[in-house]
Amino acid sequence: MVTESMKMRKKSRGEEVRLGLHTGIAGGIDRSIREAAAKGCRTWQIFSRNPRGWAARPLGDDEIARFREARDEAGLDPCVIHACYLINLAASDEVRAKSIAAFRDELERGLAIGADFLVVHPGSARGASVDEAIENCARAIGEAAAGLEEALWRSGFHILIENTAGQGGQIGRSFSEVRDILELSRDLPTGMCLDTAHSFAAGYDWRDAGAAATAFSELDRLVGFERVRVIHFNDSKSAFESRVDRHWHIGHGEIGADGLARVINHPKLCHLPFILETPQDDPGADPRNLQAARDLIDQ
Ligand SMILES: [Zn+2]
Ligand SMILES: [Zn+2]
Repeated sequence: MVTESMKMRKKSRGEEVRLGLHTGIAGGIDRSIREAAAKGCRTWQIFSRNPRGWAARPLGDDEIARFREARDEAGLDPCVIHACYLINLAASDEVRAKSIAAFRDELERGLAIGADFLVVHPGSARGASVDEAIENCARAIGEAAAGLEEALWRSGFHILIENTAGQGGQIGRSFSEVRDILELSRDLPTGMCLDTAHSFAAGYDWRDAGAAATAFSELDRLVGFERVRVIHFNDSKSAFESRVDRHWHIGHGEIGADGLARVINHPKLCHLPFILETPQDDPGADPRNLQAARDLIDQ
C-alpha cells in the first residue's frame, strides 16, 4: 500500500542523479532506448553508426521517427552520441579528410535524431607537435561543421571534447589541452566530457583528497565547470599515470569507491549526466555497476 508519507517522501539524491549506460544499436538505434530504460537509466549514450568502420548505413526516416517516439516514451535525457573511434581530427595525413567527412556525418545524424551531445576523442598527433595537433583538431571540427553552425546552435547540439589517457600520442591528456581545443572552437557549441578513468590514467589522482581538490580546481580554472557537460563515470583497470585506457567495474578498479565518490558528489558536477562505460562482460554487469554508482552518492 502506498501511504501518503511515502508519496510525500523527498526524492533521495540517488534517485535524482542522472545515471546512464552506453547501450548497443544492433537492430536499430531505437533499441538502445529500450535497453537503457529497462536497466533503469535516466540518460544514455549510443554510437549512431558502426564505431569501428568508415562506412555508415544511412539512417532512414522511419528509424529516426521510431527513435524519437521511443525516447519521448522513455523520457531519457540527455541523448549522448559517442563518435566513431577511427576519427582522428588531429591527423594531418590522408586520415584527415576521411575523419572530417565521418565527423560531419556524425553531426548530421545527431541533428536528425535530436541528440544533445556528440562526444569525440580529440585525436592523436602522429609525429606532429601537440600544438599543431590541437590546431588541426580545432580546424577539422570547423570544417566538418561548416554550414551546420546555425542548426547546431539552434538545437543546442554540443560537440564535447573528451579528455584522454594520453595513449599513443593522443592529445587531450591534460585539461589545458582540452581547453586549448575549446578556445579555438568558440564559434561552435562545444564543451568537455570528463572521463574519470582517462583522467586517472593521465595523472589526475582522484584517490587522494588533496590531489583530487587540485584536479577539480584545475578543471575549473582551465575549462570551467560550466563547460563540462557529461561525465564518463568509469573505474580504471590500468594504474595511475599509466596512460593506458582500460575501463573497469565501479569500485573494483584502481580509482576505487572513494575516488569515484569525490567526482559524483562534487557540488559543481553532481547535476550532470553520468554515463557508465564499464565492461559488459556478463549480463549482471550493468545492473551491478549502476547500483555500485548509486551506492556512492551521498544522501
Ligand atoms: Zn570515449
Ligand atoms: Zn569515455
